[in-house]
Amino acid sequence: MTTSEMESSATPMNAAVRGDDVAFRVIDFLFAHCLSTTPVHYAVVHAYFDGKHQEISAAIDGQLAAGKPLDAFFVAELYEEHLAAEAIRRYRGVGTDVERLLDGLMESLRTADQGSSEYQASLQENIGSIGRSNDALHIKQVAKSLLESALKASETNAVLKKNLETADQEARQLRGELERHRRETMTDPLTGLLNRRGMEVEMARVLSEDAEGGASMMVLDIDHFKRINDTYGHAVGDVVIRKVAQTVKRLIPGSAVPVRYGGEEFAVLLPQCSTEQARGIAETIRDTVEKLRLVRRHDKMAISQFTISIGVAKRGLRDDMESLFQRADKALYEAKTGGRNRVMLAA
Ligand code: GH3
Ligand code: MG
Ligand code: MG
Repeated sequence: MTTSEMESSATPMNAAVRGDDVAFRVIDFLFAHCLSTTPVHYAVVHAYFDGKHQEISAAIDGQLAAGKPLDAFFVAELYEEHLAAEAIRRYRGVGTDVERLLDGLMESLRTADQGSSEYQASLQENIGSIGRSNDALHIKQVAKSLLESALKASETNAVLKKNLETADQEARQLRGELERHRRETMTDPLTGLLNRRGMEVEMARVLSEDAEGGASMMVLDIDHFKRINDTYGHAVGDVVIRKVAQTVKRLIPGSAVPVRYGGEEFAVLLPQCSTEQARGIAETIRDTVEKLRLVRRHDKMAISQFTISIGVAKRGLRDDMESLFQRADKALYEAKTGGRNRVMLAA
C-alpha cells in the first residue's frame, strides 16, 4: 500500500499515521469510544496510531474486531502492560541526573579542599618568614600575600557554598519528582485508590509487618455492573465505580490498604483484623452501598439501586498475598453464586 492510499482510506484499523495527523486522530478516536482525554488514554491511543507498538495495535484491533467495548479499564491495562514500563525506564533515567549532581558536588569539594590546602601552605610559609624577619617592608609584603591568599580562599568557599545550595535545591526537586512519579504509577486515576501495581507493593509491605498472621482480606465486586453500563452509559458506570470506592475508603480503618485491581473489582487488606471484625466492616460497606441513591446530573434521572458482593478471608500462617487473595476471591464467587448482595467468609 502506498502512503497516499493509506492516508486517503477511512480510519484504518491498524496503520502507521504521519505525526501531524496523529493528534487529531487520537482525539477523534477517544471521542468515538467515549473515552475521556486523560494522559493515559491519550498515550495508549497515540501508541495505537503511531504504529510503533505492535502489541497495543493488535490488542485494540482484536477488541474492536470482537465487537467488545474499549473501556477505560481495558485502555488502562494496555498502558500498564506496555507503556508504564517505558515511563518507569524514563523515571530511572533520573538516577543519572542524581549521579551527575553528585559528581559536580564532589568536584566542588575537591576544588575547595585544594584551595584551603593552598591557603594553609601559604599561611605556614608566610608566618615562618615573619618569624625570621624584622624588616617592616618585608612584613608588609607578607601581610599583602596573606590577604591575597585569604581572599582567594574565601572566594573558593563562596563558590562552594553556592554550588552546595544549587545541588541541594536540585536534589530536593529530583526527590519530589521521583516521589510524584512513584505515586502516579501506583494509583488508579478514576478512584485515587491503589492500582494493581500499588497493590503488590503496598500489600507486600503490610504483610511483611504482619508476622503473626493477624490480617484479613476483603474482595468486592459490583453486582451486574454490565447492566449499569448498558442502561445508563459508561460515564454513569464510572461514577458508580467512584462512589463504591469512596464508600469503601470511608468505612475501612486508616491502616487498611484499599485497591481497585479490576474494572469494578476491589480488594482491601485489613491489618490486625479478626474474621468477625472483617465481616462487620464488609457488612457495613455492603449495606451502605445498597442504600446509595444516585441521580444523573443533567436529566435528574434516578439511577436504580445497585449492590455489591464481598468475599472475606482471614490470613492463615502459610498464606502469602496471592493465596490470601485467592481464598477471599473464592468466597466472593460463592457470594455471587449464592445470590449476590452478600458477604461470604472463606472456609
Ligand atoms: P457480576 O454480578 O457477575 O459481577 O456481573 P457484572 O456484570 O458485574 O460482571 P462482568 O465481569 O460481566 O462485567 C463487568 C463490566 O465492567 C464489563 C466492562 O465493560 C465493565 N468495565 C470494566 N472497566 C470499566 C470502567 O473502568 N468503567 C466502566 N464504566 N465500566 C467498566
Ligand atoms: Mg467483575
Ligand atoms: Mg461485577
